[in-house]
Amino acid sequence: MSTIRTRFAPSPTGFFHIGSARTALFNWLFARHTGGKFILRVEDTDKERNNDQYLQVIYDSLKWLGMDWDEGPGIGGNYGPYKQSERADVYQDYLKKLTATGRTYEKDGAIWFRLEGERYTEYDSFLKKEVEKVKAAPVTINDLIRGKVERAEDRDFVIVRNNGEPVFHFVNVVDDIAMEMTHVIRGEDHLSNTSKHVELYNALGAPVPAFAHIPLILKTDGPGKMSKRDRGALIEEYQSRHFLPAAVRNYLCLLGWTPKDGREVLPIGDIIDQFELSDVHQANARFDEKKMAFINQQHLRALPLETFAWLATPVLQQAGLVSDTTNENYLQSVLALCQEKLPGLENLADISRYFFTDDFPYDEEARAKISKKSDPAIRIRQLIPALEKLQKLDDADIDAAINDTASANGAKPGDYFAPLRFAISGVGGGPHLHDVVRVLGKDRVIARAKKFTGE
Ligand code: GLU
Repeated sequence: MSTIRTRFAPSPTGFFHIGSARTALFNWLFARHTGGKFILRVEDTDKERNNDQYLQVIYDSLKWLGMDWDEGPGIGGNYGPYKQSERADVYQDYLKKLTATGRTYEKDGAIWFRLEGERYTEYDSFLKKEVEKVKAAPVTINDLIRGKVERAEDRDFVIVRNNGEPVFHFVNVVDDIAMEMTHVIRGEDHLSNTSKHVELYNALGAPVPAFAHIPLILKTDGPGKMSKRDRGALIEEYQSRHFLPAAVRNYLCLLGWTPKDGREVLPIGDIIDQFELSDVHQANARFDEKKMAFINQQHLRALPLETFAWLATPVLQQAGLVSDTTNENYLQSVLALCQEKLPGLENLADISRYFFTDDFPYDEEARAKISKKSDPAIRIRQLIPALEKLQKLDDADIDAAINDTASANGAKPGDYFAPLRFAISGVGGGPHLHDVVRVLGKDRVIARAKKFTGE
């Protein structure tokens, strides 16, 4: 069997949307699964709407998501150039070929593709005029996802506009032929174009590639398709929010595909091993921001501390919490505490602020809740003498300080946990209290406790 060749063929007319990323990903997965090639082809024939800035975003996002292309812009290959704007001569050649078959004609300055079949005229209520129609034999598409789809075109269509620009249907088919694509994997919105495309393949005497049309991605609520204006729709957004690219990629895989082994969080190698086009769902997928965040959290948790620290440090530097003078061991112990429960790296600065500055905010809601039980300042005042006697700062040492204070004041140990946490961190939750005390260290804990009581 010849090598499988798939392609991602974006039109750089807007920011890079998760639907496009998912299309690229399914092509890439299929190529990697089958040992085939993944090609990037830029469909930039629409000069008015294309924009270099958008193109750069596509390259950056694909790289960020770890989808390396085997041929395409920046890399080259035997089938280049890979930008349609540089392939005018190829389209000329194919137009000549098609013209030689007698399947083209000129009308109103445009070049049309002629369907084969009996012609008749019919009143078109939309155009409000008689139009010429064709009884063409239906085209059968054995879509690898949708199954058998039959559709007949009933009107000739333009392949070169009267300004000389070839249209999408023509250049798309020509490139897939010239670049020897074996599989066309693309969004379901293109299914309705496929009968036109098959007509062109047949007229050009070229083998028809296998088609696989991927279901749409619906927005979180409601019936509509996810649009670029919807929150969470742009890949750039995840990049700037410090999502892990591996997690975003993992989540995108689940939009229309389910791993056979039932796991939802899994390494890319396992996804590549399991990915089959025939397992892609027919039903539309629904975007779920919470699930994306959950998967990101699972990936974060699974990172070795060293890797986590490598990713987290710049985030904290950016927030002005960490600098070159920050003690490396201290930073490592803070990060080790934060990694487990961290929702995402975008939350890290907020969650860990109190480890790096004494000037942290107090969460007034948490204060109100804690104060319902007893005045936290009084509890802390009672606790300070015991804190001053802390020695090893191990669990037993800290427990003893709290237990002794509790019995001396006719209170329960539980009455001191929340006030102590609040006094030294300003929040009502977080890592295990004993760990927070240990990492902050005795001096900081006492200084903060005293400041809290107004001493
Ligand atoms: N340029 C088309 C798009 O952006 C690609 C269509 C295809 O993959 O065949 O939707």
